[in-house]
Amino acid sequence: MGVLKTYRWLDKFLIISVYGVEHFHSTKVHCPHCLVKTHRDGTTAYTHSMLCSVLVHPQQAAVFVVGAEPIVCQDGATKNDCERSADKRLLKAMALSYTGQRLLYVNDALYATGPHIKQVRDNKWDFIMGVKPDGHKALFTKWEALRKTGNLLQMHTYRDEKGAVHRFEFFNGTALNEANPAYKVNFIHYQQVDGNGKTTPFSWVTSLIISKKNVMEIMQAGRSRWKIENETFNTLKNQGYGFGHNYGHGQQHLATTLAYLMLMAFTTDQLIQWCSQPFQVLWKEAKTKAKLWHTFRALFMVKPLTSFRHLYQETAYL
Ligand SMILES: [Zn+2]
Repeated sequence: MGVLKTYRWLDKFLIISVYGVEHFHSTKVHCPHCLVKTHRDGTTAYTHSMLCSVLVHPQQAAVFVVGAEPIVCQDGATKNDCERSADKRLLKAMALSYTGQRLLYVNDALYATGPHIKQVRDNKWDFIMGVKPDGHKALFTKWEALRKTGNLLQMHTYRDEKGAVHRFEFFNGTALNEANPAYKVNFIHYQQVDGNGKTTPFSWVTSLIISKKNVMEIMQAGRSRWKIENETFNTLKNQGYGFGHNYGHGQQHLATTLAYLMLMAFTTDQLIQWCSQPFQVLWKEAKTKAKLWHTFRALFMVKPLTSFRHLYQETAYL
């Protein structure tokens, strides 16, 4: 249907963002695979989460889940260990499904580690990852030092049509940290100053060589990560999928199976949303997806329906 064509960023890359989402939570029901968290007040929470790879684009509203891996714990592992090992499995599965595709990973600072970057680069993929002063001290120390001397650091300021100022400072070819001197990354520090003088800072490392020509685009791709949080998972939680609702834990794999089913329903809906003009018309009229799902459900209760087209026609008559 040409969806991927419109999602190629700079005509080359498919931007993939990774996000863990909790879909089961209980203080009583649990199994050996639950993530266990003991709160300060002594209560224990048992949860199941899913790590999702999601295709995003800075200028596109729809996002597509292209991979999912349950975050399940082994004996004695902490939540971070679990998420990291799920990430390793997910990257392996992505390598099998998307060989030859130019993927660009956009991750938050939790993923800006030597092993994760190595696994991404081993597949010949690129990345833009958030970094933070407390987790990436060596990078920020180098940035501060370059600021003082003015050596090698490149600066670029741009004012957009809305009056916001975008300030960039960047340098290419530096080690990620002392533990991984072999992994060279390119560093970018960005500040957005809006019309009221409010400043929002971001920092990233990337495998792409940064220049004044592409720095604005790299920033936009880096920020597209938040689309996942704002769009995918808000949709899953609030637009009628009930992803945060406990549908059941079961004995072994029920919670995970239900999460997969919800992701499949969501993916099918996203594809229909993109490809079906009748759906787009109905959605516009209904204003929210939740309202549209209510109408569809009501029709299912009272009428035999032979196809999606039939369902849309009946909805249109209402
Ligand atoms: Zn469990």
